[in-house]
Amino acid sequence: SAPLLELDDLHVEFRTRDGVARAVNGVSYTVEAGKTLAVLGESGSGKSVTAQAIMGILDTPPAFIPRGEVRFKGRDLLAMPERERRAIRGQRIAMIFQDALSALNPVFPVGDQIGEMFRVHRGMSKRDSRLRAIEMMDRVHIPAARQRVRDYPHQFSGGMRQRIMIAMAIALGPEVLIADEPTTALDVTVQAQIMDLLRELQAETNMGLILITHDLGVVADVADRIAVMYAGRIVEEASVYDIYSRPAHPYTKGLLESVPRVDQKGQKLKAVEGLPPNLMRIPSGCPFHPRCPYKQEPVCTTELPQLYPTGADSGAACHFWEDVRRESTAEFALAG
Ligand code: SF4
Ligand code: MG
Repeated sequence: SAPLLELDDLHVEFRTRDGVARAVNGVSYTVEAGKTLAVLGESGSGKSVTAQAIMGILDTPPAFIPRGEVRFKGRDLLAMPERERRAIRGQRIAMIFQDALSALNPVFPVGDQIGEMFRVHRGMSKRDSRLRAIEMMDRVHIPAARQRVRDYPHQFSGGMRQRIMIAMAIALGPEVLIADEPTTALDVTVQAQIMDLLRELQAETNMGLILITHDLGVVADVADRIAVMYAGRIVEEASVYDIYSRPAHPYTKGLLESVPRVDQKGQKLKAVEGLPPNLMRIPSGCPFHPRCPYKQEPVCTTELPQLYPTGADSGAACHFWEDVRRESTAEFALAG
């Protein structure tokens, strides 16, 4: 049977007066029921834009989708009639964002906002939808839901607001949940609690989860697979184990070196040197070449690396991935 969600050669561009920003340049990935795909990259890598394309937020100019498909259970969302599309997006595929406070409406009680999902999409009465809202608040472990259902967003902590967003997103029982930097605005303890909640809900519902983040530290315990994006492309995709212990792309390796390790407490973090490219002028050849310590000319500056298979079910877009893997295997084994 068809995978739950499948992106196939997706392209997204923004046509502005100053030029065309090529934000997504041929992204393909698959999300299975009950599994978590983490999409990792710096800001501007195209990870959020890809998600927005799935959700249909980019259906109008200046955004264009010149090529590619977003297949939900085998059917291309980009090609189906608007009515059908609307029945899928927001209901069977739902999304939560980083900033819960600005996503919630400050002038309505949270219970009304959760309940609205049931009123609008399920035709429930105000009273029934409030009861469902309380159930949902319980389900995401908001204490004293019955008393707090009439409270306003500002009366909740950041972590509790993110739980409210999650309650809204899962209210209609989506099969796919996209979480775009869901914990970035929160402190570390609360981050872990939100991740635990997402994992718990996934176990209950068998949702496929896309977890978008710039933070490798967040995804290790949660993800099944990781796709690393750079300049609108997937530069490496592999299991969590392979990404952490033997990355095959220099960018992934650089990101890992920037994550604090237990054995390096107090040591200053190394960031990947240099800046992400301007999406209106993506470098020739391998887009990562201006920042890459493994670069060899002229091949890296002239030939765009495709995703080379690095294992049965993994790949890296680097001409010299074997060298990178050899070194990372040695280095990360030493680091423990
Ligand atoms: Fe670096 Fe070349 Fe590999 Fe690109 S193809 S990541 S520039 S070594
Ligand atoms: Mg983003």
